[in-house]
Amino acid sequence: QVKQRGRDGYAFYARHLTTAAMRKAEMEAELHKAITGDELLLLFQPQIDLDSEQLVGVEALVRWMHPVKKMIAPDLFIPLAEESNLIIKLGEWVLNRACRQINEWQDMGLTPVPVAINVSGVELYNQSFADSFREIMATHGINPQLIKVEVTENHMLEDMDSAIQQLNKLRELGIKIAIDDFGTGYSSLAYLKKLPIHQLKIDRSFIKDIPQDVNDMAITRAVIAMGATLGMEIIAEGVETREQQKFLQEHQCGLGQGYLFARPLDAKSLENWLDHS
Ligand code: C2E
Ligand code: MG
Ligand code: MG
Ligand code: MG
Repeated sequence: QVKQRGRDGYAFYARHLTTAAMRKAEMEAELHKAITGDELLLLFQPQIDLDSEQLVGVEALVRWMHPVKKMIAPDLFIPLAEESNLIIKLGEWVLNRACRQINEWQDMGLTPVPVAINVSGVELYNQSFADSFREIMATHGINPQLIKVEVTENHMLEDMDSAIQQLNKLRELGIKIAIDDFGTGYSSLAYLKKLPIHQLKIDRSFIKDIPQDVNDMAITRAVIAMGATLGMEIIAEGVETREQQKFLQEHQCGLGQGYLFARPLDAKSLENWLDHS
């Protein structure tokens, strides 16, 4: 009887594992199909000069338009892509899509602004990352000044030498580098001087409770001051209120991005937003 139950227990356990592993493999196959097929969508969120409220750039943010599960947020599939190396193909898709959009906007006669591309630290382990990035831009005839790259501290630390090498190559091409979600990673300060960083993006978690949380306000002021001392541009993410905008302006944070100004928009909606702003 005990034996019997043991066997049942084991069988149940094994079946459970298999299901989970299968689900993951299935998801990966679906994501592969999404990247090679037509299920990804690139949205663009305006980046704003806080004083003039002029557009200074846009950040490209990917979405997965799953035929059954509807729109899937990147937080749910980027980690999967990073684990399975699909991140390389996904990154190439995003850059290609962004380059095509830059050319389309140029053909429409819109004033060009840089498009910021999110790059995963995992992509930077790849020795040919910067070369392939350059080739994609060249294929579309894109001026590298019109591309920015946003990287987070996540993963980068696992192979810092490779990350530094790839980012230096990008910088040599004329691409500006931003550190994304600044303040949430591990060794923010030690590597700051090792990386060719042009811009610090203050993480939304420090902005969201301004002006109620005095600690967040102190941290935000300190990050702005430090970035300025190092000669970096500062941008705050997740600006949702006029109070937050005012606080940032008063403390010399030049740029902001957030729902206060605009949500991430598809290309058509961004064009409409430009017409009405
Ligand atoms: P992120 O690069 O830090 O992007 C900022 C996130 O905050 C975006 O979420 C954006 O929609 C959201 N956001 C912007 N303003 C506000 C605001 O005022 N309030 C609130 N509550 N949220 C705001 P999203 O689009 O879901 O992207 C999440 C993360 O996924 C990104 O964080 C980025 O790390 C990653 N990601 C997005 N697109 C790509 C991509 O093409 N490649 C890679 N590797 N990662 C990407
Ligand atoms: Mg970003
Ligand atoms: Mg961010
Ligand atoms: Mg983030």
